[in-house]
Amino acid sequence: MQEIVEQGRSLPVRSEVDVLVVGGGPSGIIAALAAAEDGLRVTLIESRSFLGGNMTIGLPILGFLGQKGNQIIEGLPQKFIDRLKELNAASEHRPCPLHMGITLVEPEAVKAVAFEMLAESGVDVMLYTSFADVVMAANKIQGVIIESKKGREAILAKVVIDCSGDADVAYRAGVPCEKGNEQGGMQPPTLMFSLGNVDTDKLRFCIAEEPRTYLTDFIPNEYFGQNHQYIVVGLRSLVQKAKADGLNLPTDRTIVITGLEKGEVWINMTRVNGVDGTDPVSLTKGELEARRQIRDIFKYLKGYVPGFENAFLSRTAPFLGIRETRRIIGKYIMNREDILSCARFEDAVAVASYPLDIHHPVGGDCTLEWSGDCYDIPYRSLVPEKVENLLVAGRTISTTHEAMSAIRVMAPCMAMGEAAGRAAKMAVRNGMAPSAIDVQELRKELVEKGAYLRP
Ligand SMILES: Cc1cc2nc3c(=O)[nH]c(=O)nc-3n(C[C@H](O)[C@H](O)[C@H](O)COP(=O)(O)OP(=O)(O)OC[C@H]3O[C@@H](n4cnc5c(N)ncnc54)[C@H](O)[C@@H]3O)c2cc1C
Repeated sequence: MQEIVEQGRSLPVRSEVDVLVVGGGPSGIIAALAAAEDGLRVTLIESRSFLGGNMTIGLPILGFLGQKGNQIIEGLPQKFIDRLKELNAASEHRPCPLHMGITLVEPEAVKAVAFEMLAESGVDVMLYTSFADVVMAANKIQGVIIESKKGREAILAKVVIDCSGDADVAYRAGVPCEKGNEQGGMQPPTLMFSLGNVDTDKLRFCIAEEPRTYLTDFIPNEYFGQNHQYIVVGLRSLVQKAKADGLNLPTDRTIVITGLEKGEVWINMTRVNGVDGTDPVSLTKGELEARRQIRDIFKYLKGYVPGFENAFLSRTAPFLGIRETRRIIGKYIMNREDILSCARFEDAVAVASYPLDIHHPVGGDCTLEWSGDCYDIPYRSLVPEKVENLLVAGRTISTTHEAMSAIRVMAPCMAMGEAAGRAAKMAVRNGMAPSAIDVQELRKELVEKGAYLRP
């Protein structure tokens, strides 16, 4: 490949802050709120025009409830849901036999509420601003270089929290990272889309009353008779029939998620194998292919699934949803056994319970494995190797490919955000590296402030 040398240049320092959060998705919003709680100078940068990350693409938040039905994520993530609820923009945490707990949220309200809460906390939010690079001094990040319409500027920070979903900061700072399974295969992305005018009651009563025709994966059919907000996963025989009739469908399962508005559903059925979410060419191909897939998926839903007869396509999500890219190598790498054995860690800073849920990198299927209860997320998995003043929260913490498939859902990502934000605050207050803070003190603060940790 041809190369050119980028000339060195001096950049204006835009600001000097205590904590810089990169990425305003579920983990980043909560991390910034936690870090700013006692008046530290906190900036959050977000490359898109809105906050929320994957919380804005039509997904229900999974993970507030554990496999035993109890609530296992509280604290700031719950406060965020409470604020949405004040606007009728979030549901209760509804038990679900497959997903444990589903919490429906209205994407537009997520964007507004996130902004309001961060502004109230004094966080300096910069939208339309991408993280571009790090400024290092030995193994310490002095600051980051941001890129916007204004050009390149620097923000100096005492601690940086990488909530980019792709470990962008960690990767640039030289933290060793991994991608995908042993063959490098990553879970495929999905472009979500929503439909209006769906008779969601007709759908659920058909499933409840005709279990032989409308078979769902793992969820007993009678569940649908009792719940008006739900996720359908399955209806495989309908997909098979549509495929036999010539429709080109990328998956064997139907996934329908009811929205908060009457008649609204979100569809999680596009699937583009082989996309690398850190490569714009690959992402562009993924977007195009997913849009192509929507045509036949829409025909399938209208023609084969009860309740969709009069549906119309209302919107596609603002971006292709990326399930997996880089994972950092941290002080501890969570693995499959930790999830399945309901591991407990002395440095637990969050509790999760979502099962292993791998959308296969190749082919169209998915594997789910439950543990029966909760597992801890240790602080060491948020602390990267090699770089001192960096923390990572969200789906890119230090795990294996398999463990990542469990911890990646949004409620645990939010809980990790709270842990990382409070840890960053302690590190700044004590003038020490995040890896050196007293984790028992952090755990104490988390519990005192309302987060859930197992006794
Ligand atoms: C199709 C799909 C279905 C899923 N289904 C569910 C589900 O039903 N329920 C559930 O709970 N979870 C689900 N997940 C998983 C979940 O959405 C993600 O794992 C979770 O959102 C990760 O949170 P995060 O904060 O780590 O990253 P993200 O939500 O990805 O947020 C990262 C943020 O950082 C910003 N950013 C990235 N790079 C930069 C940069 N260089 N500079 C500035 N900003 C940057 C992004 O714009 C984004 O706002 C699904 C994921 C996908 C893709």
